Amino acid sequence: MKNRISPNQAYGLLTVIRETGERRCGQKVWECVCECGTHCEVLSHNLASGNTKSCGCLRRKGRIIRDVRSRNACGV
Ligand SMILES: [Zn+2]
Repeated sequence: MKNRISPNQAYGLLTVIRETGERRCGQKVWECVCECGTHCEVLSHNLASGNTKSCGCLRRKGRIIRDVRSRNACGV
């Protein structure tokens, strides 16, 4: 599994823009832009593990569950 995250990488509908410099739960926080144009912040491990693949719009369409809830959590 790829754990290195860098700008311009795509994860599902999300494309990584930059590292925010912030850390949550010991994880780097990345600013991403969704295919729908919404910006959001996602923790490294949620990107790398595929937990978070959109800003939440996929979930609203009913195609992916557990998207938003896991986005800013510590993942345990
Ligand atoms: Zn979206």
